[in-house]
Amino acid sequence: MAGVILDGRRISQEILSELKPRIETLRQKARPPALAVVLVGEDPASQIYVRNKIKTCRELGITSLDRTPPANTTTEELLEIIQSFNEDPEVDGILVQSPLPKHIDSHAVLLAVSPSKDADGFHPFNVGCLVANRPAPRACTPAGIMQMLKRYEVPIAGRHAVVVGRSDIVGKPMALMLLHENATVTICHSRTPDLAAECRRADILVAAIGKPALLTEAYIKPGAVVVDVGMNRLTDCAEVNRIFAHDPKRIAAFEKSGTALVGDVDPHAMQELSSAYTPVPGGVGPLTIAMLMANTVSLAEQHLRC
Ligand code: NDP
Repeated sequence: MAGVILDGRRISQEILSELKPRIETLRQKARPPALAVVLVGEDPASQIYVRNKIKTCRELGITSLDRTPPANTTTEELLEIIQSFNEDPEVDGILVQSPLPKHIDSHAVLLAVSPSKDADGFHPFNVGCLVANRPAPRACTPAGIMQMLKRYEVPIAGRHAVVVGRSDIVGKPMALMLLHENATVTICHSRTPDLAAECRRADILVAAIGKPALLTEAYIKPGAVVVDVGMNRLTDCAEVNRIFAHDPKRIAAFEKSGTALVGDVDPHAMQELSSAYTPVPGGVGPLTIAMLMANTVSLAEQHLRC
C-alpha cells in the first residue's frame, strides 16, 4: 500500500493563515512586521528564493526591505549593511541569503546579525538556545518539518529517528528538534560505515544530503515515515529515466522542460515502502518560507511587545 503524502503546500498555507491575525494585531497596535533581505550578487537560484520570500511577505502584509549589493561587495561593506538593519527599530528580522560569494567571511556575517533579529535562526546564540531547548528563532527547514510531523500527528516520542546529513542549517538542528520531542536520534553522514543498515532502523527517516535519490529501497524500513529534504535538479536524461522509471508523467515533464527536481530518496521506493512521505516538490520546500514568516512575526511581537 502506498504511503500517505505529507502535503507541505497544505501545511504551509495553514501556517501562513494562522499568522494573518497576529500580523493584523501588530499592524493595529504598532506597525506591520518587517523583514530585511540581503542578497549579494546575482546568483539566479538565490534571486528566485529571495523573490519568493518577498512575494510571501507582500501577500501576508509583512513589510520587506531588500538590499542587493553587487557580487564584489567586501565583507566590511556587507557588515555595514547588516549593522544598519540591526540599528533600525523598524526592522524585526534580517536574512542574508546564502550562498555568499567565496571572498566573503560568512562566519563574520553570521555573527553580525543581531540574535534578536535572526530570522533564519542561524546565529550561534540562537543555536545555543536550540541545544538548551530554550525559546529562540529556529532554523526554518527543520522547524517546518517538525510542524508538519505534529500537524499530521506522526508520533515522535519513543520512536527511532535517523537523520542523514549534519549541516548546520538542516541536519544538526533537525536532530536536536527530534531529540527534544523525545525521539532516539541517530545522525549519519558521509563517513557512516553502513548507511543502509542505519537507515533501516528508522521509524522516522530524514534525508538532508544533496545526492539525488541516494536512499533506495534497501535504506527504508517498511512503514517508516520518510522526510525528503533534498532538492536536486537533474538534467541528465539517463538519470531521469532511471529514477523516474515508474513515473511516466515525470519523464514526460522532463522531456518538455529539460530539468527534473528529485530529492535524496528514491521516489518510487519511498512511495511504496513508507507509511507516509514528503514528495519532492511539494513536501519540505514550502514549509521553509512559512517558518521564515513565522519567525519574523514572532520577532516583531517581541520587539513591539504585542
Ligand atoms: P550540505 O551539503 O551542507 O550537507 C550535506 C550532508 O550530507 C553532510 O553532512 C554530508 O556529510 C552528508 N552526505 C553527503 N554525502 C553523503 C553520503 N554519500 N552518505 C551520507 N551522508 C552524506 O547540505 P544541506 O544540509 O544544506 O542540504 C541538504 C539537501 O537539502 C540539499 O539537497 C539541499 O538543496 C536541500 N535543502 C532543501 C531545503 C528546502 O527548503 N527543501 C532547505 C535546505 C536544504 P559530511 O558532513 O560528512 O560531509
